Amino acid sequence: MESALDYHSARALLAWQIELGATDAICDAPVNRYELEARQPKPTARQAEAPPPKPKEVDPVEVARDIARGVRDLAGLKTALAQFEHCDLRKGARNLVFSDGKPGARVMVIGEAPGRDEDLEGRPFVGRAGQLLDRMLAAIGLSRQDNVYITNVLPWRPPQNRDPLPAEIAMMTPFLERHVALANPDILIAMGNISCDALMGKRGITRLRGTWGEAWGKPVMPMFHPAYLLRQPLQKRAAWSDLLDIKSRLDAG
Ligand code: URA
Repeated sequence: MESALDYHSARALLAWQIELGATDAICDAPVNRYELEARQPKPTARQAEAPPPKPKEVDPVEVARDIARGVRDLAGLKTALAQFEHCDLRKGARNLVFSDGKPGARVMVIGEAPGRDEDLEGRPFVGRAGQLLDRMLAAIGLSRQDNVYITNVLPWRPPQNRDPLPAEIAMMTPFLERHVALANPDILIAMGNISCDALMGKRGITRLRGTWGEAWGKPVMPMFHPAYLLRQPLQKRAAWSDLLDIKSRLDAG
């Protein structure tokens, strides 16, 4: 291509560009980027205001339902719980507290959540309340060694043993429902308000206790929680009456 510049002017211009920092020649004709930018269409007001697309929100209860539905046995359920990432209690707990006792037993006890001792040992009801529970069960010929299966609504200890949040109960309930279906007991014992809430959607243990309810097709006996009985020993009379009711039901087949 013929150049309008003489040799010396062209050389001086090239030297000037190199001095400005140009290192490579990438096209035949120069491009004025400032002009290009000015020609870009301005975003409309709506485009400028539109927030970036949000990541899709996950509903932990739905996720729990899907996972629980796919679980085939108790070992699978334990693994599924250990891998469930939506409950923050998991992060603060030392151990997953899954169950104790005899799977397949006629009686399934459902407590609230692990405390300090349970968290350390990875087994439900091993502290003082658990020892009282064992004595209560023994009074009607039951034991976790022989004929009772035990679990909790929550498999992880809440910080400082605080009450479980409604969202935590809601996301763990599909797993509990599956747990009951897989263990398949004849009767359920709901220990305290949290358990009654998860099983039957009801609270008010003073009113509920002693009257059979139903959860997922199984009869449920709501009882005072053993930890409450340790603080209120006079209520053991009511607990004894509930235990006798349970025994009659078991004896009747
Ligand atoms: N209280 C519960 O409800 N569950 C346990 O495992 C221990 C204490």
